[in-house]
Amino acid sequence: MEKDCIFCKIVKKEIPAKIVYSDKDVLAFEDINPQAPIHIIIIPQKHIEKLAEINESDISLIGRMVFIATKIAKEKKISDSGYRLVLNCNRDAGQTIFHIHLHLLGGRKFSWPPG
Ligand code: AMP
Ligand code: ZN
Repeated sequence: MEKDCIFCKIVKKEIPAKIVYSDKDVLAFEDINPQAPIHIIIIPQKHIEKLAEINESDISLIGRMVFIATKIAKEKKISDSGYRLVLNCNRDAGQTIFHIHLHLLGGRKFSWPPG
């Protein structure tokens, strides 16, 4: 746990979030500034700064985050229409919170290439 990390504070329930899924390894909640009708953030309960820092021991955790995203997409009824998973790493990708997180975005059409 990192003292000043917003997402660690959500894990510790020190700041509120609209939690949509929780287990011992993974937490998912609604994005505070949604970029689509459905915008969920999926995080590991443990603090990992960024994708570039994962170890081999984190492979199943990252796979689990993706799996949970597919479950939430089905629950939110965007699985058939489509959705986008985004994981921003470092400055050029626009990472603003340095606790690894997966964005699940859906409920509208997305363009490609991304901006
Ligand atoms: P990124 O730009 O990939 O680092 O994404 C960070 C995301 O976290 C943004 O979409 C923010 O809107 C979202 N966010 C920041 N603070 C909170 C919060 N307290 N609760 C929920 N989502 C948040
Ligand atoms: Zn953290």
